[in-house]
Amino acid sequence: MGNADFAPSADVIVIGAGLIGLALARDLRARGLRPLVLEAGRAGREASWAGAGMLAAYRTSDMALRPLAVAAARLYPGWVAELEHETGMNTGYRESGTLFLASPGHPAPSPALEGWEPMTGEAVAELEPELRFAGDVWRIAGDHCVDNRALSAALAESLRRSGVEVRERARVTAVRAAGGGLTVETPAGRMAAAVVVNCAGAWAGGFDAPAAAEVRPRKGQMFALRHAPDVRHVIAGERVYLVPRGGGRVLVGATLEDCGFDASVSQEMLAGLRQRAEALVPGLARAEMEEAWAGFRPGTPDERPLIGETSRRGYWMATGHFRDGILLAPITAKIVASAIAKGHLTKALDLRAFAPERF
Ligand SMILES: Cc1cc2nc3c(=O)[nH]c(=O)nc-3n(C[C@H](O)[C@H](O)[C@H](O)COP(=O)(O)OP(=O)(O)OC[C@H]3O[C@@H](n4cnc5c(N)ncnc54)[C@H](O)[C@@H]3O)c2cc1C
Repeated sequence: MGNADFAPSADVIVIGAGLIGLALARDLRARGLRPLVLEAGRAGREASWAGAGMLAAYRTSDMALRPLAVAAARLYPGWVAELEHETGMNTGYRESGTLFLASPGHPAPSPALEGWEPMTGEAVAELEPELRFAGDVWRIAGDHCVDNRALSAALAESLRRSGVEVRERARVTAVRAAGGGLTVETPAGRMAAAVVVNCAGAWAGGFDAPAAAEVRPRKGQMFALRHAPDVRHVIAGERVYLVPRGGGRVLVGATLEDCGFDASVSQEMLAGLRQRAEALVPGLARAEMEEAWAGFRPGTPDERPLIGETSRRGYWMATGHFRDGILLAPITAKIVASAIAKGHLTKALDLRAFAPERF
């Protein structure tokens, strides 16, 4: 760029190797661009590892988010099929559908949303024989699930095969304008690119990113059971959900806490979740606790993501996906990669609700 200070390290620097950053880097590469991913810790080990993998698109009752969520759900099957074919790895994508258990504290939307279907007691008994629930049950046939850890691993493998570097233990400390592009500071040195995308999840506001200053961690604790009875659907109840992983493994989630980056796991909170899970599927009492963990959803004040370019030219946001980042990873990647390649955001979806500088 005619500036001695500006020797690009890549076409695009992606900050953060969670599902959003990994999926974005893959789409950028597919468009012929050369991305470099900088990751503070290890790839795919934060929220994208801690999540439950529900693809709750049709469950979304936020009408500004719903079209994006539904577009994401439509993209998913083809996207995972292509990724699995390319890498030979399984992502655990299952077309399970979801059963929504309505109660006064967990009401179904009224009027009912597209994709929601009321079930009779007999139909529920047939669909999910282990479930014991006396209230109204709705089937959301289009809300499936994926194994988010397997998905991160497959994306990392896809990047490895296409020669995209994911540099781990490379924490970004600042992003600055320089010589018509941007520089990114890390303890190991400075890197430059014309475009930088902040995909740093709950940490997105932690370095020179005024647009992401409002992003904060919203902690979730959950656990996995093994030798569990057959659970066939995602089951969404009041203050508890169950997600089948196959092979007798069932995930039980999740708390929602605002306590900063405290990653501790509370036995008391897990016991509360387990009690609510066993009230729905009594056979879970015989299952063994396999693993418990906590993670940080990237939350924003209106609980919607930040997607788009900021007023600092070339500096993009793709973060703040809160409870839906696993669902929204492929659609976010597609939108942002296409916008970077073409120079403008798609008009096919109304993205104004996700404008990165709206706060
Ligand atoms: C308990 C729980 C359950 C959830 N369940 C679901 C669900 O069922 N379905 C769903 O769709 N979503 C779910 N989510 C939300 C989902 O996990 C997140 O929205 C999604 O993983 C966000 O992806 P990300 O890539 O933005 O963030 P992350 O996966 O957190 O990745 C961000 C990455 O950026 C890195 N980073 C941070 N700062 C820097 C820096 N300065 N320099 C370099 N790298 C940096 C981090 O180390 C991290 O690897 C859940 C979350 C939790 C915690």
